Amino acid sequence: MINITFPDGSVKSFEKGVTGYQIAESISPRLASEVLAMTVKTADDDTAGKGSLYDLDRPINEDCAVTFHKWGDDEAKHVFWHSTSHLMAQALEALYPGVKFGIGPAIENGFYYDVDLQGRQITEADLKAIEDKMMEFARTKEAFVRKEVSKDDALKAFAEKGDEYKLELIGELEDGHISFYTNGGFTDLCRGPHLRDTSVIKAVKLTSIAGAYWRGDQNRQQLTRIYGISFPKKSMLDEYLALMEEAKKRDHRKIGKEMELFTFSSKVGMGLPLWLPKGADLRSRLEEFLKKIQKSYGYLPVITPHIGNKELYVTSGHYAKYGKDSFQPIHTPQEGEEYLLKPMNCPHHCEIYRSKPRSYKDLPLRFAEFGTVYRYEQSGELHGLTRVRCFTQDDAHLFVRPDQLKEEFEKVIDIILYVFKTLNFKEYTAQISLRDPKNPSKYIGSDENWAKAESAIIEASKEKGLPTVVELGEAAFYGPKLDFMVKDAIGRKWQLGTIQVDYNLPERFGLEYVGADGQKHRPVMIHRAPFGSLERFVAVLLEHTAGKLPLWLTPDQVNIVPVSEKFADYAKKVCSLMNNSDIRASIDDRNETLGKRIRESELKRIPFLVIVGEKEEAEELVSVRRQGGKDEGSMSVEDFITLVSNEVKAQLA
Ligand SMILES: [Zn+2]
Ligand SMILES: [Zn+2]
Repeated sequence: MINITFPDGSVKSFEKGVTGYQIAESISPRLASEVLAMTVKTADDDTAGKGSLYDLDRPINEDCAVTFHKWGDDEAKHVFWHSTSHLMAQALEALYPGVKFGIGPAIENGFYYDVDLQGRQITEADLKAIEDKMMEFARTKEAFVRKEVSKDDALKAFAEKGDEYKLELIGELEDGHISFYTNGGFTDLCRGPHLRDTSVIKAVKLTSIAGAYWRGDQNRQQLTRIYGISFPKKSMLDEYLALMEEAKKRDHRKIGKEMELFTFSSKVGMGLPLWLPKGADLRSRLEEFLKKIQKSYGYLPVITPHIGNKELYVTSGHYAKYGKDSFQPIHTPQEGEEYLLKPMNCPHHCEIYRSKPRSYKDLPLRFAEFGTVYRYEQSGELHGLTRVRCFTQDDAHLFVRPDQLKEEFEKVIDIILYVFKTLNFKEYTAQISLRDPKNPSKYIGSDENWAKAESAIIEASKEKGLPTVVELGEAAFYGPKLDFMVKDAIGRKWQLGTIQVDYNLPERFGLEYVGADGQKHRPVMIHRAPFGSLERFVAVLLEHTAGKLPLWLTPDQVNIVPVSEKFADYAKKVCSLMNNSDIRASIDDRNETLGKRIRESELKRIPFLVIVGEKEEAEELVSVRRQGGKDEGSMSVEDFITLVSNEVKAQLA
């Protein structure tokens, strides 16, 4: 008999060789019908506590802890989508004989498979036939059957099939760790796990086709990547497609254009955003907002150049790690110096720390900079403002004594929470990334310091009441960190805001302070960026709000529309009164119908529409409508100014 421990701590005995499915059935038939995957954690588990995903039909031969996953869990979706990629491969093999397969993983939303169609082209029009074939196979309830194979047998099988991609992959695997999975007539090299059978896949949508180089190498074969998503219920697919439709409407690239915030020019270069006047204005408002709160927390502004000597990044270690994949050094004409476009601000800030001797009384030192950095991304990876080659971080580096870590961490959390609150991100979780305790040699810094930093993060998060998840083994080699994930208005998750402890750079740059004991000590560094970058943050904000930005932030607050030319002078007078009170108002006196101008005001997402005509001019009033149509009636200009100013104040409180 073996003992199985469940998430609630209860333990039950089963025959050796029992499967997850049998265990689920013994608990309840309902659980068995809903469970899609399971995590198994054995005593010698080497996954930093994460456990391993198992096939539900794989025998369990030793004591372990078991967690069952239903559709709501990421683990279940992962297995479900990965299994669907095998189902798609099976359909492709039936429809395109001789097709060869690269890799077919699950991704955040769905799956893809990279395939070599042997010179055949497919278009979106072909996807329906593939979907139909997949559903035909799904309905036959074919089991996903796992088989362990020796490396020789694996090579033989794919040599016979003539699939050089799989042969290359098998060549890199260790004998004794190779398995095949078969569904119907299709067999794939795969580690698994998979669903029990195909019948739970009730709805499939193939979403797009793209080109992808084999192993991401542009010098190798170009394959066809087919993306898709699948669900255990048809209604879930319908909901997903509706969400995608809504996401399309909220696409920040589309909204950015409508609101005239930013643009791109292939002549300037790919992935290099150009901020238009209204966008630049919005950006500086975000900067001012953050500068104000940072000032109250004792941050000191610094400014550093956009390039730095290569040696700076050799010292920091960035050159060894990222140099090859970055923009290449700029050479000076005569002296043969080498400079790099700044990929991060930290090394510069370390040199500012080093510019004079520091004492324990000087700490914490908090250097803040809206620092623009440049990182090379492949052109195919670029996307609007979320994947760019040049962006501005709302960066700061805190140099603290080890005993100040927790307090400083709490203060950074406070700033991040203030940002979320003011910008209406109501749902978020914080991920605490810690060391893998079984692998201490992977990390730099003493055990004592790590223990201190980790407990500082955990305690600070607890005291601030953050909803947290702890991930063991996810810390960087140089320190633990805290990342904030926000949920937007349509339920998508975005990573915003990060706080990272660093023992490495102070070491590499030889940073010191003189302690109360008169001895030299090493400060700890904290990197933090509440927005992440202004580019990414603006993109997320536009998608979250569908462009209906908070009043304090939005580029145009008030649109004044005179009903006819006759009232242009009164409109001007009203506008200048508002502008003098720091309200961003402008007049739309174009020679267009009133109806058209009102509709366009909506499209530009201007929060207030002010209409002025005969009655308004005669009584020195304005007629006010909110975006979305709510009528506020007529009021004096002063009352309107007070209304707007109070709303702005309340939002920033
Ligand atoms: Zn697989
Ligand atoms: Zn940094």
